[in-house]
Amino acid sequence: MAENRDSLTVTRRDFMAGAVAAAAVSGAASASGSPVSLQTTGARMIELPPLPYGESDLAPHISQETISFHYGKHHKAYVDNTNRMVAGSELAGASLEDIVKASAGKPDKKGLFNNSAQVWNHTFYWKSLSPKGGGQPTGKLLSMVQSDFGDFAKLKEELAKAAVTQFGSGWAWLVLEGGKLKVEQTPNAETPLTNPAKKPLLTIDVWEHAYYVDYRNRRPDYVSAVLDKLINWEFAATNLG
Ligand code: FE
Repeated sequence: MAENRDSLTVTRRDFMAGAVAAAAVSGAASASGSPVSLQTTGARMIELPPLPYGESDLAPHISQETISFHYGKHHKAYVDNTNRMVAGSELAGASLEDIVKASAGKPDKKGLFNNSAQVWNHTFYWKSLSPKGGGQPTGKLLSMVQSDFGDFAKLKEELAKAAVTQFGSGWAWLVLEGGKLKVEQTPNAETPLTNPAKKPLLTIDVWEHAYYVDYRNRRPDYVSAVLDKLINWEFAATNLG
């Protein structure tokens, strides 16, 4: 539950103040005829996207308290850390996806990868849940589930297994690879986004901060609740295209 705690020395407010000051200096330069570079003004920053529902809308399966901390503290910290780490670098002004891909697998950019990938993973996770979730996929996605897993119950079983058996922190995923649906698990901030052969369709966060307030150590109960009541098959179908 305590990831990032010691790296939260720069708050978003501090960073924004710095960015505004930089923009003001740059603006003065522009008035004198010098070009303004968006990459040095901090004009394009990684944003914390709004939740696609209210903080209490996933209750009782995931409480308002969990969402408040998970989104408002953890996800926000990843955004703030990413902005702080790219400021003044060659990746300042780059898109989130580009930052994740550019830092993946680079030992000197491990911190940037961890934070930026966690921004992307969490945004994807919020969309993978819905107050009206659960149930079954339909249409093309259901047909593919039936041909690749046998039936929906088997897919659900595979997703639950991936989520429950991921050792330590990480994620369970449904991805499309080579025209087939696959269930995967990734540790820490690792994400299928960095593999061009894989298209993420949905994810389940299994870091303790995702469930400990509501379920304590009972990760299987959290995973069951997500799969029975919250998982957003419409989002997966949209990603499938
Ligand atoms: Fe999380």
